[in-house]
Amino acid sequence: MSQSHAPCAQRGGHGHPGLIDRYRNRLPFDSDDPVVSLQEGSTPLVLAERLSERVGAEVWLKIEGANPTGSFKDRGMTCAVSAAVREGAEAVICASTGNTAASAAAYAARGGLRCAVIVPEGKIATGKLAQALMHGARVVALRGNFDQALALVRELVQRHPIALVNSVNEFRLQGQKTAAFELADELGEGPDTLCIPVGNAGNVTAYWKGFSELGLSPRMLGYQAEGAAPLVHGAPVADPETVASAIRIGDPARWEEAMAAMTGSSGAIRAVSDDEILAAYRLLAAGEGVFCEPASAAGVAGLLKYGAEGAERVVCVLTGHGLKDPQTALAQAEAVIPCEPDLAAVERIVTSPSA
Ligand SMILES: *Cc1c(COP(=O)(O)O)cnc(C)c1O
Repeated sequence: MSQSHAPCAQRGGHGHPGLIDRYRNRLPFDSDDPVVSLQEGSTPLVLAERLSERVGAEVWLKIEGANPTGSFKDRGMTCAVSAAVREGAEAVICASTGNTAASAAAYAARGGLRCAVIVPEGKIATGKLAQALMHGARVVALRGNFDQALALVRELVQRHPIALVNSVNEFRLQGQKTAAFELADELGEGPDTLCIPVGNAGNVTAYWKGFSELGLSPRMLGYQAEGAAPLVHGAPVADPETVASAIRIGDPARWEEAMAAMTGSSGAIRAVSDDEILAAYRLLAAGEGVFCEPASAAGVAGLLKYGAEGAERVVCVLTGHGLKDPQTALAQAEAVIPCEPDLAAVERIVTSPSA
């Protein structure tokens, strides 16, 4: 696909342009519209050699944790916040399991807007909370779950001139579809199969939109956590529960669109257990050198569970960075090894065969 690298595309920075500048001809922005960007997108696509060997197909990892705030949410947020500025909004708001909050807070700070985020109390990963607070958002810890938070903000924006930047906002999907463009640009065509974690189902909807705009039709395989799998059961889940906090969602906002993507691509929405998610999470970090957050490993967990199913080339979308959730990482990893400042003692530990 053609990329526009106009001289003005750098917006005062160096390196690659943000995704609005890169894909403006496929996005609802004119050349003189305001752009709020942190040079998101253009994330690495890495061949996973061990995973490929294991499933007998070429497996690529789309590393969305390399976005400016550490998740794919930045793709949608550059568009949603730019549009909010264009519309004259002074504030943005979202309900969030964490990453939307971190991203909204950063882009609001960048664009000079106020930001409020509503998160489920005690249920968001430490890194995400630190980000939202550091970027100056007003953080509301709701004594309820994500679905209740989303229902509340949807009502709130009916009464106040605040832009809602959840993925019910059409600009979010517009921005997120650019990840499909990048895959097509780099691979020369679409993959045979895309494995992707599903929460609110905005991202799977956006990828399908992007592929469809290019006339591509990879098989879309969406993975939910067993304890939060409404799309698998065909009914909302009242109390969603999973270690993968980013996809702890019981009533996805993009339900119909996600199911349409499955029908259109001969794909499926399936469930993986927390144990399967955590096994994939550890394998990616220790076996491929790629540290993602637990939710991000759901697609790889699905690939390991079901196999390549005849696909020759698979892309797994790793939605967020592992540093977002240090608590889960430390709970899953080996313990640190205490040692006296003595050469022999250090030597014994360093050279002993690993377990
Ligand atoms: C938001 C998010 C998801 C889920 O994306 P949806 O668009 O809600 O389906 C998955 N993984 C991570 C890390 C996320 O932040």
